[in-house]
Amino acid sequence: MTKEASSLRWVIIAPEAEVIKWTAAFQKEAPEIVLEVGPEVADPASVDILLLWKHPQGSLASFNQVKLYYSLGAGVDHLMKDGDLLPGVPVCRIVDPLLSFSMSNYILFAVLYYQRKWDKFLKDRKGKIWDHDGITEENIRIGILGLGTLGTDAALKLHQLGFKVTGYSPSPKDIDGITTFAKGQLTEFLAQCNVLVCTVPSTPETKDLLSKPLFDQLTQPTYLINVARGAVQIEKDILDALDNNILSGAFLDVFETEPLPKDNPLWTHPKVQITPHIASITNPEAGVAQIVNNAIAVKGGTDLVHVVDSKKGY
Ligand code: NDP
Repeated sequence: MTKEASSLRWVIIAPEAEVIKWTAAFQKEAPEIVLEVGPEVADPASVDILLLWKHPQGSLASFNQVKLYYSLGAGVDHLMKDGDLLPGVPVCRIVDPLLSFSMSNYILFAVLYYQRKWDKFLKDRKGKIWDHDGITEENIRIGILGLGTLGTDAALKLHQLGFKVTGYSPSPKDIDGITTFAKGQLTEFLAQCNVLVCTVPSTPETKDLLSKPLFDQLTQPTYLINVARGAVQIEKDILDALDNNILSGAFLDVFETEPLPKDNPLWTHPKVQITPHIASITNPEAGVAQIVNNAIAVKGGTDLVHVVDSKKGY
């Protein structure tokens, strides 16, 4: 089947480390397909498929006959902000059970870190203190902000483990065991949770969402877990909310500026946990088959999967 896709011309534009990983995955999973590395390639107008991850803005204009843009991750913000995308050409993204597995595990870890008071035990250990007096697990109600592929997977798994879980997304959702809130009910959603997990896409609408106006709608100290994108948060407001006990803590994987600058006060804040944007990393070997199938669908004029809604921007 990959033979069909090998008659197309493929170009990858991504940081070098990604290019190496994806080239190796294509060689293993679809050896007939040749990946040329861009953006500087001969005759860009004859390129059919563009595989993109953090490509330099302005580098796509000469690829003026492209038939499919592919984000090499679940997020598409790096692509959707590019003004040179050809109108009407589909943009697809990676949706993969491994990505959901990894993300849900990260979220579960962050939830348990808070719920089982791991900060206290790390501190006690430094002083060799054996103290279990009065220790109870936090009584938590988890709210998942963004009930898409990743948010729903996490919600279901947390629910199966016995946690109280609710979720919010603009469009209504019906998910077994999860109370869901939709457009017009954000305030109600925020009022009832004390752990807030953010799994929204980065769009003009979600820019700066995790900021004072949202925090002001929380009715109890809330533990914030953000695995979405740094553009979704205002770090100054997070710090203020932590210092005013509006947020009881924050477990952050994404930041306004990445790598997180060394002088950023989040590094040293006692209520903040930091990971370097590793919550869930795309597995190229798992992604090749869906990319190839979509390329064949484009060629044959059949339906594609994991297509980005150009109006919504995700
Ligand atoms: P999906 O597109 O499947 O889901 C996004 C969800 O967010 C949808 O339910 C959508 O609502 C909801 N949403 C959109 N706008 C808003 C809003 N304004 N307020 C609340 N909810 C909103 O995406 P995925 O679940 O696959 O991925 C989510 C994001 O996670 C990615 O865009 C990416 O940025 C990030 N990510 C981070 C990784 C990491 O390692 N840190 C790894 C992978 C992804 P509706 O259903 O109504 O459209």
